[in-house]
Amino acid sequence: MKLHAMGKKVIVIGSGFSSLSAACYLAKDGYDVTVYEKNEAVGGRAARLIKEGFTFDMGPSWYWMPDIFDKFFADFGKRTSDYYLLDKLSPAYKIFFSDDVITIGDTMDKICAEFERIEPGSSAQLRKFIAKAQRNYDIAINKVVLRPGLSPLELVTKETVMEVDQFFRTISSEVRKNFKNPKLISTLEFPVLFLGAKPSKTPSFYSFMNFADFGLGTWHPKGGMYEIIAGMKSLAEELGVTIHTNTAVDKILVEDRKTTGVSINGEDHLAEIVLSGADYRHSERLLDSEHRQYSETYWDKKTFAPSSLLFYVGFDKKLTNIEHHNLFFDTDFELHAQEIYDAPQWPTDPLFYANFPSVTDGSMAPKGCETGFFLVPIAPGLADTPQLRDQYFDIIMNRFELRTGQKVIKNIIFKESFCVNDFIDRYNSYKGNAYGMANTLAQTAFLRPNLKSKKVKNLFFTGQLTVPGPGVPPSLISGKLVSELIVKAN
Ligand SMILES: Cc1cc2nc3c(=O)[nH]c(=O)nc-3n(C[C@H](O)[C@H](O)[C@H](O)COP(=O)(O)OP(=O)(O)OC[C@H]3O[C@@H](n4cnc5c(N)ncnc54)[C@H](O)[C@@H]3O)c2cc1C
Repeated sequence: MKLHAMGKKVIVIGSGFSSLSAACYLAKDGYDVTVYEKNEAVGGRAARLIKEGFTFDMGPSWYWMPDIFDKFFADFGKRTSDYYLLDKLSPAYKIFFSDDVITIGDTMDKICAEFERIEPGSSAQLRKFIAKAQRNYDIAINKVVLRPGLSPLELVTKETVMEVDQFFRTISSEVRKNFKNPKLISTLEFPVLFLGAKPSKTPSFYSFMNFADFGLGTWHPKGGMYEIIAGMKSLAEELGVTIHTNTAVDKILVEDRKTTGVSINGEDHLAEIVLSGADYRHSERLLDSEHRQYSETYWDKKTFAPSSLLFYVGFDKKLTNIEHHNLFFDTDFELHAQEIYDAPQWPTDPLFYANFPSVTDGSMAPKGCETGFFLVPIAPGLADTPQLRDQYFDIIMNRFELRTGQKVIKNIIFKESFCVNDFIDRYNSYKGNAYGMANTLAQTAFLRPNLKSKKVKNLFFTGQLTVPGPGVPPSLISGKLVSELIVKAN
Protein backbone atom coordinates (compact mmCIF):
# COMPACT_ATOMS: atom_id res chain seq x y z
CA MET A 1 0.00 0.00 0.00
CA LYS A 2 1.31 3.44 -0.89
CA LEU A 3 1.23 5.89 2.00
CA HIS A 4 0.59 8.94 -0.18
CA ALA A 5 -2.66 7.34 -1.40
CA MET A 6 -4.05 6.81 2.09
CA GLY A 7 -7.54 8.16 2.39
CA LYS A 8 -7.60 9.82 -1.04
CA LYS A 9 -11.07 9.43 -2.39
CA VAL A 10 -11.67 8.16 -5.94
CA ILE A 11 -15.12 8.06 -7.52
CA VAL A 12 -15.44 5.53 -10.35
CA ILE A 13 -18.29 6.01 -12.83
CA GLY A 14 -19.64 2.72 -14.19
CA SER A 15 -18.92 -0.88 -13.30
CA GLY A 16 -17.88 -2.57 -16.56
CA PHE A 17 -14.72 -4.68 -16.73
CA SER A 18 -12.46 -1.63 -16.97
CA SER A 19 -14.04 0.17 -14.00
CA LEU A 20 -13.99 -2.91 -11.79
CA SER A 21 -10.39 -3.61 -12.77
CA ALA A 22 -9.29 -0.05 -11.95
CA ALA A 23 -11.29 -0.06 -8.70
CA CYS A 24 -9.46 -3.21 -7.55
CA TYR A 25 -5.99 -1.84 -8.35
CA LEU A 26 -6.72 1.53 -6.71
CA ALA A 27 -8.17 -0.04 -3.56
CA LYS A 28 -5.11 -2.29 -3.34
CA ASP A 29 -2.98 0.86 -3.54
CA GLY A 30 -4.75 2.38 -0.55
CA TYR A 31 -7.32 4.66 -2.20
CA ASP A 32 -10.83 5.01 -0.84
CA VAL A 33 -12.84 3.85 -3.87
CA THR A 34 -16.57 4.26 -4.52
CA VAL A 35 -18.21 2.95 -7.70
CA TYR A 36 -21.49 4.40 -9.03
CA GLU A 37 -23.32 2.29 -11.62
CA LYS A 38 -26.47 3.53 -13.33
CA ASN A 39 -27.94 0.05 -13.94
CA GLU A 40 -29.42 -2.41 -11.46
CA ALA A 41 -26.36 -4.66 -11.50
CA VAL A 42 -22.61 -4.34 -12.02
CA GLY A 43 -20.89 -5.58 -15.17
CA GLY A 44 -21.72 -3.08 -17.91
CA ARG A 45 -21.91 -4.71 -21.36
CA ALA A 46 -21.33 -8.07 -19.66
CA ALA A 47 -24.84 -8.12 -18.19
CA ARG A 48 -26.73 -11.31 -17.37
CA LEU A 49 -30.35 -12.19 -18.13
CA ILE A 50 -31.98 -15.04 -16.22
CA LYS A 51 -35.41 -16.08 -17.43
CA GLU A 52 -37.50 -19.21 -16.87
CA GLY A 53 -34.42 -21.18 -15.84
CA PHE A 54 -32.34 -20.01 -18.86
CA THR A 55 -29.14 -18.02 -18.25
CA PHE A 56 -27.94 -15.61 -20.94
CA ASP A 57 -24.77 -13.58 -21.10
CA MET A 58 -26.13 -10.47 -22.75
CA GLY A 59 -22.79 -9.23 -24.13
CA PRO A 60 -19.41 -10.99 -24.31
CA SER A 61 -19.39 -14.75 -24.70
CA TRP A 62 -15.90 -15.60 -26.04
CA TYR A 63 -13.34 -16.13 -23.29
CA TRP A 64 -10.04 -15.58 -25.07
CA MET A 65 -6.53 -14.81 -23.77
CA PRO A 66 -6.88 -16.70 -20.47
CA ASP A 67 -3.38 -15.52 -19.51
CA ILE A 68 -4.67 -11.94 -19.12
CA PHE A 69 -7.41 -12.98 -16.69
CA ASP A 70 -4.87 -15.08 -14.77
CA LYS A 71 -2.47 -12.12 -14.58
CA PHE A 72 -5.28 -9.86 -13.36
CA PHE A 73 -6.19 -12.12 -10.43
CA ALA A 74 -2.49 -12.88 -9.74
CA ASP A 75 -1.87 -9.15 -9.22
CA PHE A 76 -4.02 -9.55 -6.09
CA GLY A 77 -2.41 -12.78 -4.92
CA LYS A 78 -5.40 -14.75 -6.23
CA ARG A 79 -6.04 -17.37 -8.83
CA THR A 80 -8.78 -17.30 -11.44
CA SER A 81 -10.00 -20.60 -9.97
CA ASP A 82 -10.61 -18.84 -6.63
CA TYR A 83 -13.57 -17.17 -8.38
CA TYR A 84 -14.73 -19.39 -11.27
CA LEU A 85 -13.96 -22.65 -13.06
CA LEU A 86 -12.85 -22.76 -16.68
CA ASP A 87 -13.38 -25.37 -19.38
CA LYS A 88 -11.39 -25.38 -22.61
CA LEU A 89 -13.95 -25.84 -25.36
CA SER A 90 -13.44 -28.75 -27.73
CA PRO A 91 -14.12 -27.98 -30.47
CA ALA A 92 -13.59 -24.25 -30.00
CA TYR A 93 -16.22 -23.34 -32.59
CA LYS A 94 -17.82 -24.18 -35.91
CA ILE A 95 -18.20 -22.04 -39.04
CA PHE A 96 -21.09 -22.69 -41.41
CA PHE A 97 -20.46 -21.77 -45.05
CA SER A 98 -23.02 -22.22 -47.83
CA ASP A 99 -21.35 -25.44 -49.02
CA ASP A 100 -19.34 -26.75 -46.06
CA VAL A 101 -18.75 -26.53 -42.32
CA ILE A 102 -15.32 -25.85 -40.81
CA THR A 103 -14.70 -27.07 -37.27
CA ILE A 104 -11.94 -25.38 -35.25
CA GLY A 105 -10.53 -27.90 -32.81
CA ASP A 106 -8.78 -27.30 -29.50
CA THR A 107 -5.24 -28.07 -30.72
CA MET A 108 -3.09 -26.89 -33.62
CA ASP A 109 -2.87 -30.47 -34.90
CA LYS A 110 -6.65 -30.72 -35.23
CA ILE A 111 -6.89 -27.28 -36.84
CA CYS A 112 -4.10 -28.16 -39.30
CA ALA A 113 -5.93 -31.36 -40.29
CA GLU A 114 -9.06 -29.28 -40.99
CA PHE A 115 -7.05 -26.78 -43.10
CA GLU A 116 -5.56 -29.68 -45.09
CA ARG A 117 -9.06 -31.02 -45.78
CA ILE A 118 -10.06 -27.66 -47.27
CA GLU A 119 -6.81 -26.71 -49.02
CA PRO A 120 -4.15 -29.43 -49.31
CA GLY A 121 -0.74 -28.07 -48.31
CA SER A 122 -2.18 -25.16 -46.31
CA SER A 123 -1.22 -26.51 -42.88
CA ALA A 124 2.48 -25.73 -43.36
CA GLN A 125 1.55 -22.10 -44.17
CA LEU A 126 -0.77 -22.05 -41.19
CA ARG A 127 1.95 -23.16 -38.77
CA LYS A 128 4.23 -20.39 -40.06
CA PHE A 129 1.43 -17.82 -39.86
CA ILE A 130 0.58 -18.80 -36.28
CA ALA A 131 4.26 -18.81 -35.24
CA LYS A 132 4.49 -15.19 -36.40
CA ALA A 133 1.16 -14.42 -34.70
CA GLN A 134 2.64 -15.86 -31.49
CA ARG A 135 5.68 -13.56 -31.76
CA ASN A 136 3.30 -10.64 -32.24
CA TYR A 137 1.29 -11.78 -29.22
CA ASP A 138 4.40 -11.78 -27.05
CA ILE A 139 5.35 -8.29 -28.21
CA ALA A 140 1.82 -6.91 -27.97
CA ILE A 141 0.87 -8.38 -24.63
CA ASN A 142 4.18 -8.26 -22.82
CA LYS A 143 5.53 -5.00 -24.19
CA VAL A 144 3.24 -2.66 -26.11
CA VAL A 145 -0.15 -3.10 -24.48
CA LEU A 146 1.13 -2.31 -21.02
CA ARG A 147 1.94 1.26 -22.01
CA PRO A 148 -0.57 4.04 -21.37
CA GLY A 149 -0.79 5.51 -24.88
CA LEU A 150 0.56 8.93 -23.91
CA SER A 151 3.20 9.20 -26.62
CA PRO A 152 4.07 7.68 -30.00
CA LEU A 153 7.45 6.71 -28.58
CA GLU A 154 5.77 4.04 -26.49
CA LEU A 155 5.26 1.98 -29.63
CA VAL A 156 8.97 2.07 -30.34
CA THR A 157 10.57 -0.99 -28.80
CA LYS A 158 13.42 -3.14 -30.05
CA GLU A 159 10.82 -5.62 -31.23
CA THR A 160 8.31 -3.25 -32.87
CA VAL A 161 11.04 -1.48 -34.83
CA MET A 162 11.86 -4.82 -36.43
CA GLU A 163 8.19 -5.34 -37.24
CA VAL A 164 7.27 -1.82 -38.33
CA ASP A 165 6.09 -2.97 -41.76
CA GLN A 166 3.39 -4.99 -40.01
CA PHE A 167 1.74 -1.73 -38.91
CA PHE A 168 1.40 -0.61 -42.53
CA ARG A 169 0.29 -3.88 -44.08
CA THR A 170 -3.22 -5.12 -43.33
CA ILE A 171 -4.29 -8.43 -41.88
CA SER A 172 -6.38 -8.93 -44.98
CA SER A 173 -3.41 -8.68 -47.38
CA GLU A 174 -1.26 -10.86 -45.10
CA VAL A 175 -3.89 -13.61 -45.00
CA ARG A 176 -4.47 -13.46 -48.75
CA LYS A 177 -0.73 -13.68 -49.42
CA ASN A 178 -0.63 -17.02 -47.59
CA PHE A 179 -4.01 -18.60 -48.28
CA LYS A 180 -6.15 -18.86 -51.40
CA ASN A 181 -9.29 -20.67 -50.30
CA PRO A 182 -12.04 -18.08 -49.46
CA LYS A 183 -13.30 -20.16 -46.52
CA LEU A 184 -9.84 -20.30 -44.94
CA ILE A 185 -9.43 -16.57 -45.58
CA SER A 186 -12.71 -15.83 -43.72
CA THR A 187 -11.67 -18.19 -40.91
CA LEU A 188 -8.40 -16.33 -40.42
CA GLU A 189 -9.99 -12.88 -40.76
CA PHE A 190 -12.66 -13.62 -38.15
CA PRO A 191 -10.56 -12.98 -34.97
CA VAL A 192 -9.72 -9.38 -35.88
CA LEU A 193 -13.45 -8.60 -36.15
CA PHE A 194 -13.23 -8.39 -32.34
CA LEU A 195 -11.14 -5.26 -32.85
CA GLY A 196 -14.10 -3.55 -34.46
CA ALA A 197 -12.87 -2.75 -37.98
CA LYS A 198 -12.71 -4.44 -41.37
CA PRO A 199 -9.73 -6.78 -41.78
CA SER A 200 -8.70 -4.60 -44.74
CA LYS A 201 -8.32 -1.67 -42.30
CA THR A 202 -6.62 -3.57 -39.46
CA PRO A 203 -2.80 -3.69 -39.29
CA SER A 204 -1.32 -7.16 -39.77
CA PHE A 205 0.45 -6.84 -36.43
CA TYR A 206 -2.97 -7.67 -34.95
CA SER A 207 -2.56 -11.22 -36.21
CA PHE A 208 -1.80 -11.85 -32.53
CA MET A 209 -5.57 -12.37 -32.32
CA ASN A 210 -5.05 -15.48 -34.48
CA PHE A 211 -2.63 -16.81 -31.90
CA ALA A 212 -5.20 -16.07 -29.19
CA ASP A 213 -7.70 -18.06 -31.25
CA PHE A 214 -5.73 -21.10 -32.48
CA GLY A 215 -2.83 -21.07 -30.00
CA LEU A 216 -4.48 -20.25 -26.67
CA GLY A 217 -7.96 -21.58 -27.37
CA THR A 218 -11.54 -20.74 -26.47
CA TRP A 219 -12.63 -21.18 -22.85
CA HIS A 220 -15.90 -21.09 -20.94
CA PRO A 221 -16.35 -20.04 -17.31
CA LYS A 222 -18.80 -22.47 -15.73
CA GLY A 223 -22.08 -20.63 -15.22
CA GLY A 224 -21.26 -18.11 -17.97
CA MET A 225 -19.21 -14.96 -18.53
CA TYR A 226 -21.03 -13.16 -15.74
CA GLU A 227 -19.10 -15.34 -13.28
CA ILE A 228 -16.01 -13.24 -14.12
CA ILE A 229 -17.90 -10.08 -13.17
CA ALA A 230 -19.19 -11.74 -9.98
CA GLY A 231 -15.59 -12.71 -9.16
CA MET A 232 -14.28 -9.20 -9.77
CA LYS A 233 -17.08 -7.70 -7.68
CA SER A 234 -16.17 -10.03 -4.78
CA LEU A 235 -12.51 -9.14 -5.14
CA ALA A 236 -13.31 -5.41 -5.22
CA GLU A 237 -15.41 -5.72 -2.07
CA GLU A 238 -12.71 -7.79 -0.36
CA LEU A 239 -10.35 -4.90 -1.11
CA GLY A 240 -12.77 -2.40 0.45
CA VAL A 241 -14.44 -0.87 -2.63
CA THR A 242 -17.97 0.47 -2.04
CA ILE A 243 -20.38 -0.18 -4.91
CA HIS A 244 -23.70 1.58 -5.52
CA THR A 245 -25.98 0.32 -8.30
CA ASN A 246 -29.07 2.13 -9.69
CA THR A 247 -27.05 5.33 -9.30
CA ALA A 248 -26.36 7.39 -12.43
CA VAL A 249 -23.82 10.19 -12.25
CA ASP A 250 -25.35 13.37 -13.74
CA LYS A 251 -22.36 15.67 -13.71
CA ILE A 252 -18.60 15.70 -13.16
CA LEU A 253 -17.74 18.70 -10.96
CA VAL A 254 -14.81 20.96 -11.83
CA GLU A 255 -13.32 23.90 -9.96
CA ASP A 256 -10.21 25.77 -11.14
CA ARG A 257 -9.66 23.14 -13.84
CA LYS A 258 -9.51 20.37 -11.25
CA THR A 259 -12.24 17.83 -10.55
CA THR A 260 -13.90 17.96 -7.13
CA GLY A 261 -16.28 15.01 -7.49
CA VAL A 262 -19.63 14.25 -9.09
CA SER A 263 -23.26 15.22 -8.79
CA ILE A 264 -25.98 12.57 -8.43
CA ASN A 265 -29.64 13.54 -8.28
CA GLY A 266 -28.71 17.11 -7.42
CA GLU A 267 -26.42 16.07 -4.56
CA ASP A 268 -22.65 16.66 -4.67
CA HIS A 269 -20.33 13.75 -3.81
CA LEU A 270 -16.82 15.02 -3.29
CA ALA A 271 -13.62 13.25 -4.30
CA GLU A 272 -10.03 14.16 -5.12
CA ILE A 273 -10.05 11.93 -8.22
CA VAL A 274 -12.78 10.98 -10.70
CA LEU A 275 -12.37 8.06 -13.09
CA SER A 276 -15.03 7.33 -15.69
CA GLY A 277 -15.39 3.90 -17.28
CA ALA A 278 -18.63 4.88 -19.00
CA ASP A 279 -18.50 5.43 -22.79
CA TYR A 280 -15.95 8.20 -23.30
CA ARG A 281 -18.15 10.57 -25.24
CA HIS A 282 -20.93 10.28 -22.63
CA SER A 283 -18.37 10.84 -19.84
CA GLU A 284 -17.23 14.06 -21.46
CA ARG A 285 -20.82 15.21 -21.77
CA LEU A 286 -21.05 15.02 -17.98
CA LEU A 287 -18.67 18.02 -18.06
CA ASP A 288 -19.48 21.62 -18.93
CA SER A 289 -18.52 22.11 -22.56
CA GLU A 290 -15.35 24.14 -21.87
CA HIS A 291 -13.85 21.17 -20.03
CA ARG A 292 -14.38 18.65 -22.86
CA GLN A 293 -11.33 17.55 -24.88
CA TYR A 294 -13.10 16.19 -27.96
CA SER A 295 -15.73 17.87 -30.15
CA GLU A 296 -18.81 16.25 -31.70
CA THR A 297 -17.01 16.34 -35.06
CA TYR A 298 -14.15 14.36 -33.53
CA TRP A 299 -16.50 11.58 -32.42
CA ASP A 300 -18.44 11.65 -35.65
CA LYS A 301 -15.30 11.09 -37.72
CA LYS A 302 -14.09 8.08 -35.72
CA THR A 303 -14.58 4.49 -36.83
CA PHE A 304 -16.76 2.91 -34.19
CA ALA A 305 -17.00 -0.81 -33.61
CA PRO A 306 -20.30 -2.24 -34.84
CA SER A 307 -23.53 -2.21 -32.93
CA SER A 308 -25.45 -5.49 -32.74
CA LEU A 309 -28.91 -6.86 -33.09
CA LEU A 310 -29.13 -9.49 -30.37
CA PHE A 311 -31.70 -12.15 -29.55
CA TYR A 312 -31.88 -14.18 -26.35
CA VAL A 313 -33.93 -17.26 -27.12
CA GLY A 314 -35.16 -20.14 -24.96
CA PHE A 315 -35.71 -23.44 -26.84
CA ASP A 316 -37.78 -26.25 -25.28
CA LYS A 317 -35.56 -28.98 -26.78
CA LYS A 318 -31.90 -29.81 -27.32
CA LEU A 319 -30.68 -28.70 -30.76
CA THR A 320 -28.52 -30.78 -33.09
CA ASN A 321 -25.51 -30.05 -35.37
CA ILE A 322 -24.38 -27.10 -33.26
CA GLU A 323 -21.48 -26.35 -30.93
CA HIS A 324 -21.14 -23.88 -28.06
CA HIS A 325 -19.98 -21.16 -30.54
CA ASN A 326 -21.21 -21.10 -34.17
CA LEU A 327 -20.50 -18.60 -36.94
CA PHE A 328 -22.78 -18.37 -39.95
CA PHE A 329 -20.52 -17.12 -42.74
CA ASP A 330 -22.78 -18.50 -45.45
CA THR A 331 -23.41 -15.14 -47.12
CA ASP A 332 -21.18 -12.44 -48.61
CA PHE A 333 -18.66 -11.34 -45.92
CA GLU A 334 -17.48 -8.33 -47.98
CA LEU A 335 -20.97 -6.99 -48.68
CA HIS A 336 -21.96 -7.22 -45.03
CA ALA A 337 -18.71 -5.45 -44.01
CA GLN A 338 -19.45 -2.65 -46.51
CA GLU A 339 -22.94 -2.27 -45.05
CA ILE A 340 -21.41 -1.87 -41.58
CA TYR A 341 -18.53 0.48 -42.41
CA ASP A 342 -18.71 2.05 -45.88
CA ALA A 343 -22.39 2.58 -46.60
CA PRO A 344 -24.10 2.04 -43.23
CA GLN A 345 -27.44 0.31 -43.65
CA TRP A 346 -29.33 -2.75 -42.47
CA PRO A 347 -27.52 -5.73 -44.03
CA THR A 348 -28.91 -7.24 -47.21
CA ASP A 349 -27.92 -10.77 -46.31
CA PRO A 350 -26.40 -10.80 -42.82
CA LEU A 351 -23.68 -12.97 -41.38
CA PHE A 352 -24.49 -13.92 -37.80
CA TYR A 353 -23.15 -15.64 -34.72
CA ALA A 354 -25.05 -18.10 -32.51
CA ASN A 355 -23.99 -19.13 -29.04
CA PHE A 356 -25.46 -22.10 -27.15
CA PRO A 357 -23.65 -22.27 -23.80
CA SER A 358 -25.98 -25.04 -22.62
CA VAL A 359 -24.30 -27.40 -25.14
CA THR A 360 -21.30 -27.66 -22.79
CA ASP A 361 -22.69 -26.27 -19.54
CA GLY A 362 -25.90 -27.83 -18.24
CA SER A 363 -26.33 -25.08 -15.65
CA MET A 364 -27.21 -22.56 -18.39
CA ALA A 365 -30.62 -24.05 -19.36
CA PRO A 366 -33.40 -26.19 -17.86
CA LYS A 367 -32.96 -29.92 -18.47
CA GLY A 368 -33.65 -30.90 -22.09
CA CYS A 369 -33.64 -27.24 -23.23
CA GLU A 370 -31.17 -25.00 -25.07
CA THR A 371 -30.13 -21.41 -24.34
CA GLY A 372 -29.60 -19.51 -27.60
CA PHE A 373 -27.90 -16.14 -28.13
CA PHE A 374 -27.91 -14.75 -31.69
CA LEU A 375 -25.86 -11.75 -32.81
CA VAL A 376 -26.05 -9.83 -36.09
CA PRO A 377 -23.35 -7.13 -36.35
CA ILE A 378 -24.76 -3.87 -37.75
CA ALA A 379 -23.57 -0.31 -38.29
CA PRO A 380 -23.86 1.91 -35.23
CA GLY A 381 -26.53 4.59 -35.39
CA LEU A 382 -29.03 2.69 -37.60
CA ALA A 383 -32.77 3.21 -37.13
CA ASP A 384 -33.98 0.52 -34.75
CA THR A 385 -37.65 -0.49 -34.84
CA PRO A 386 -39.62 -3.52 -33.59
CA GLN A 387 -40.53 -4.34 -37.23
CA LEU A 388 -36.88 -4.47 -38.29
CA ARG A 389 -35.98 -6.65 -35.32
CA ASP A 390 -38.78 -9.09 -36.21
CA GLN A 391 -37.83 -9.10 -39.88
CA TYR A 392 -34.20 -10.01 -39.07
CA PHE A 393 -35.24 -12.59 -36.50
CA ASP A 394 -37.17 -14.42 -39.23
CA ILE A 395 -34.23 -14.17 -41.64
CA ILE A 396 -31.70 -15.67 -39.25
CA MET A 397 -34.01 -18.35 -37.84
CA ASN A 398 -34.80 -19.57 -41.36
CA ARG A 399 -31.10 -19.61 -42.25
CA PHE A 400 -30.30 -21.36 -38.97
CA GLU A 401 -32.85 -24.09 -39.72
CA LEU A 402 -31.53 -24.49 -43.26
CA ARG A 403 -27.83 -24.68 -42.34
CA THR A 404 -28.22 -26.93 -39.30
CA GLY A 405 -30.88 -29.12 -40.92
CA GLN A 406 -33.54 -28.98 -38.19
CA LYS A 407 -36.79 -27.24 -37.28
CA VAL A 408 -36.54 -24.97 -34.24
CA ILE A 409 -38.98 -22.09 -34.72
CA LYS A 410 -41.90 -23.93 -33.10
CA ASN A 411 -39.67 -24.82 -30.14
CA ILE A 412 -39.07 -21.23 -29.07
CA ILE A 413 -40.50 -20.67 -25.57
CA PHE A 414 -39.55 -17.00 -25.50
CA LYS A 415 -37.30 -14.47 -27.13
CA GLU A 416 -36.00 -11.07 -26.10
CA SER A 417 -34.13 -8.66 -28.31
CA PHE A 418 -31.52 -5.94 -27.73
CA CYS A 419 -30.33 -3.41 -30.31
CA VAL A 420 -29.11 0.15 -30.98
CA ASN A 421 -31.78 1.86 -28.83
CA ASP A 422 -31.05 -0.43 -25.88
CA PHE A 423 -27.30 0.17 -26.11
CA ILE A 424 -28.00 3.88 -25.91
CA ASP A 425 -30.59 3.66 -23.09
CA ARG A 426 -28.82 1.07 -20.97
CA TYR A 427 -25.15 2.06 -21.41
CA ASN A 428 -25.19 5.66 -22.72
CA SER A 429 -23.40 4.25 -25.73
CA TYR A 430 -22.44 6.60 -28.58
CA LYS A 431 -24.62 5.73 -31.62
CA GLY A 432 -25.44 2.45 -29.84
CA ASN A 433 -21.97 0.99 -30.46
CA ALA A 434 -21.66 -2.48 -28.94
CA TYR A 435 -17.95 -2.57 -28.28
CA GLY A 436 -16.38 0.84 -28.47
CA MET A 437 -14.01 2.36 -30.96
CA ALA A 438 -12.25 0.23 -33.53
CA ASN A 439 -8.51 -0.45 -33.46
CA THR A 440 -7.48 0.81 -36.90
CA LEU A 441 -3.98 2.17 -37.53
CA ALA A 442 -5.25 5.74 -37.05
CA GLN A 443 -6.98 4.73 -33.82
CA THR A 444 -4.24 2.75 -32.09
CA ALA A 445 -2.39 3.52 -28.84
CA PHE A 446 -1.56 7.23 -28.46
CA LEU A 447 -4.04 8.00 -31.29
CA ARG A 448 -7.01 6.89 -29.12
CA PRO A 449 -8.89 9.14 -26.69
CA ASN A 450 -6.67 9.68 -23.64
CA LEU A 451 -6.73 7.85 -20.33
CA LYS A 452 -6.03 11.18 -18.66
CA SER A 453 -7.92 14.42 -19.26
CA LYS A 454 -5.76 17.09 -20.84
CA LYS A 455 -8.09 19.80 -19.53
CA VAL A 456 -9.18 18.77 -16.04
CA LYS A 457 -6.70 17.76 -13.35
CA ASN A 458 -7.35 14.41 -11.67
CA LEU A 459 -10.01 13.37 -14.17
CA PHE A 460 -9.30 10.04 -15.85
CA PHE A 461 -11.02 7.70 -18.31
CA THR A 462 -10.89 3.97 -18.88
CA GLY A 463 -12.63 1.33 -21.02
CA GLN A 464 -13.09 0.17 -24.54
CA LEU A 465 -13.05 3.63 -26.15
CA THR A 466 -9.63 4.44 -24.80
CA VAL A 467 -6.37 2.46 -24.51
CA PRO A 468 -5.80 -0.32 -25.48
CA GLY A 469 -9.22 -0.97 -27.13
CA PRO A 470 -12.33 -3.13 -27.37
CA GLY A 471 -12.82 -6.51 -25.70
CA VAL A 472 -12.79 -7.93 -22.20
CA PRO A 473 -9.01 -8.55 -21.89
CA PRO A 474 -8.16 -5.02 -23.14
CA SER A 475 -10.71 -3.58 -20.67
CA LEU A 476 -8.96 -5.36 -17.79
CA ILE A 477 -5.67 -3.91 -19.00
CA SER A 478 -7.20 -0.45 -19.44
CA GLY A 479 -8.20 -0.46 -15.76
CA LYS A 480 -4.68 -1.40 -14.75
CA LEU A 481 -3.06 1.26 -16.96
CA VAL A 482 -5.28 4.07 -15.70
CA SER A 483 -4.77 3.07 -12.07
CA GLU A 484 -1.00 3.34 -12.64
CA LEU A 485 -1.44 6.84 -14.09
CA ILE A 486 -3.59 7.86 -11.12
CA VAL A 487 -1.02 6.56 -8.65
CA LYS A 488 1.73 8.38 -10.54
CA ALA A 489 -0.20 11.67 -10.50
CA ASN A 490 -1.10 11.39 -6.81
C1 LIG B 1 -22.88 -8.03 -27.73
C2 LIG B 1 -21.44 -7.94 -27.33
C3 LIG B 1 -20.61 -9.02 -27.51
C4 LIG B 1 -19.29 -8.95 -27.12
N1 LIG B 1 -18.51 -10.07 -27.24
C5 LIG B 1 -17.28 -10.08 -26.69
C6 LIG B 1 -16.58 -11.30 -26.53
O1 LIG B 1 -17.11 -12.36 -26.88
N2 LIG B 1 -15.34 -11.28 -25.97
C7 LIG B 1 -14.77 -10.11 -25.54
O2 LIG B 1 -13.62 -10.14 -25.03
N3 LIG B 1 -15.43 -8.93 -25.64
C8 LIG B 1 -16.67 -8.90 -26.17
N4 LIG B 1 -17.40 -7.74 -26.21
C9 LIG B 1 -16.76 -6.50 -25.77
C10 LIG B 1 -16.71 -6.36 -24.25
O3 LIG B 1 -17.92 -6.77 -23.69
C11 LIG B 1 -16.44 -4.91 -23.90
O4 LIG B 1 -15.28 -4.46 -24.56
C12 LIG B 1 -16.28 -4.66 -22.40
O5 LIG B 1 -17.24 -5.35 -21.65
C13 LIG B 1 -16.35 -3.15 -22.17
O6 LIG B 1 -16.16 -2.84 -20.83
P1 LIG B 1 -16.05 -1.32 -20.39
O7 LIG B 1 -15.67 -1.32 -18.95
O8 LIG B 1 -15.22 -0.53 -21.31
O9 LIG B 1 -17.51 -0.66 -20.60
P2 LIG B 1 -19.03 -1.07 -20.21
O10 LIG B 1 -19.16 -2.52 -20.00
O11 LIG B 1 -19.89 -0.43 -21.19
O12 LIG B 1 -19.22 -0.35 -18.80
C14 LIG B 1 -19.58 1.00 -18.69
C15 LIG B 1 -20.55 1.13 -17.53
O13 LIG B 1 -20.81 2.51 -17.26
C16 LIG B 1 -22.17 2.62 -16.87
N5 LIG B 1 -22.59 4.03 -17.03
C17 LIG B 1 -22.80 4.71 -18.18
N6 LIG B 1 -23.15 5.98 -17.90
C18 LIG B 1 -23.16 6.10 -16.55
C19 LIG B 1 -23.45 7.18 -15.66
N7 LIG B 1 -23.77 8.39 -16.10
N8 LIG B 1 -23.39 6.94 -14.33
C20 LIG B 1 -23.07 5.71 -13.83
N9 LIG B 1 -22.78 4.66 -14.65
C21 LIG B 1 -22.82 4.87 -15.98
C22 LIG B 1 -22.87 1.68 -17.82
O14 LIG B 1 -24.15 1.35 -17.33
C23 LIG B 1 -21.91 0.50 -17.81
O15 LIG B 1 -22.22 -0.39 -16.76
C24 LIG B 1 -18.75 -7.77 -26.57
C25 LIG B 1 -19.59 -6.67 -26.38
C26 LIG B 1 -20.93 -6.76 -26.73
C27 LIG B 1 -21.83 -5.59 -26.47
